[in-house]
Amino acid sequence: MKFCPNCGASVTLKVPAGDSLPRHVCEACSTIHYANPKMVIGCIPEWESRILLCKRAIEPRRGSASSNDPWTRSSSTFPLFAGWFRSIR
Ligand SMILES: [Zn+2]
Repeated sequence: MKFCPNCGASVTLKVPAGDSLPRHVCEACSTIHYANPKMVIGCIPEWESRILLCKRAIEPRRGSASSNDPWTRSSSTFPLFAGWFRSIR
């Protein structure tokens, strides 16, 4: 990625504050562009007729409730279900 899809300015590859991986960051509009794969899997665990949610331990939105839908990097080489099993442990 060379240019920001939001504003057209040049982007910089760097590790944003609170993150651990390099991302394409637009200095003009402060947008952090994440390269996310399109395929998503998830589960909705139920316990005693209640739906269980996860509490995010990392940014963005640390401490907020989240569904249990793990991410995979576009460069990941492991099978897709491995991300799901990793997440529900
Ligand atoms: Zn921008």
